[in-house]
Amino acid sequence: RVKEQGKNNFQFYTPEMNEAVTKKMKLEIGLRKALERNEFKIVYQPQIDVETGGIIGVEALLRWHHPEWGTISPAEFIPIAEETGLILQIGEWVLQGACRQNKEWQNAGYAPLRMAVNISSRQFQQSDLVERVRRILRETELEPQYLELELTESIIQDSKYAVAKMQQLKEMGILLSIDDFGTGYSSLSYLKTFPIHTLKIDQSFTRNIYSDSKDASLVETIIAMAHNLDLKVIAEGVETEEQLEFLQQKQCNEAQGYFFSRPISAEDLAVILQERSVSEVS
Ligand code: C2E
Ligand code: MG
Ligand code: MG
Ligand code: MG
Repeated sequence: RVKEQGKNNFQFYTPEMNEAVTKKMKLEIGLRKALERNEFKIVYQPQIDVETGGIIGVEALLRWHHPEWGTISPAEFIPIAEETGLILQIGEWVLQGACRQNKEWQNAGYAPLRMAVNISSRQFQQSDLVERVRRILRETELEPQYLELELTESIIQDSKYAVAKMQQLKEMGILLSIDDFGTGYSSLSYLKTFPIHTLKIDQSFTRNIYSDSKDASLVETIIAMAHNLDLKVIAEGVETEEQLEFLQQKQCNEAQGYFFSRPISAEDLAVILQERSVSEVS
């Protein structure tokens, strides 16, 4: 904190800056209690096979409902959780909960789904990450091929031994994907050395497929490149039928977005899975 400096008091702090700092501190204090107070919830967003239209997976997305402040966006609290290290506990809670939920759906008789979980930078850097994931799979009795970990380009690039860690996860039978692909300014050469399964095209590209021919070219090129490298592609942020048609034409494998469903509760997703299994039988 800058102390009084003669007559120009506090010249480095504007009221807006103070407000931002106070807000961040409040959020941090709230976050520290959120787990024990049961304020987190996981919602699930379906991932659709573009060819068949069927659900083949879901992405687990964290929600924080504070009793006074209401719902706080992950875009706001995940960076604070990351900065404070709280993400380690929170991330483990999400991983555990998502795996348990996936196994529950299987036990209820629904066709098995892939569960994608976002992994933060600190989490990926944990030296015992691989053991933690292994333990969670053992405890929840989920088979590894039904778990996918979403990593970003920057997470991989900032981490020591990233390739070795990814290799160990892959050998365990887990799937790995690159989230927000195309936004990371990283060299593409990692794509040939990293044991990944899927590229997730960032929603900022999907959004303008129809209005911006450059974004359309980018998406088309990413799909073609991924296929040449034997990777699957999923487009995030699909909101319209036109976007879906474009992706179908370009043979994108999967799609995820509000056009199909917003992220929804486990109970609501079970209703969809129920309807799906009924329509498959009849
Ligand atoms: P992400 O992993 O790229 O997740 C996709 C985000 O796009 C989600 O936002 C989702 O609700 C939103 N989305 C999905 N379909 C559409 C669409 O059609 N249109 C638009 N405009 N948005 C769509 P959300 O849930 O707010 O999460 C934001 C980010 O927070 C995530 O981006 C992820 O980076 C992070 N996050 C969320 N949950 C977790 C978590 O459990 N752990 C970690 N480490 N990060 C998380
Ligand atoms: Mg994600
Ligand atoms: Mg993303
Ligand atoms: Mg993102």
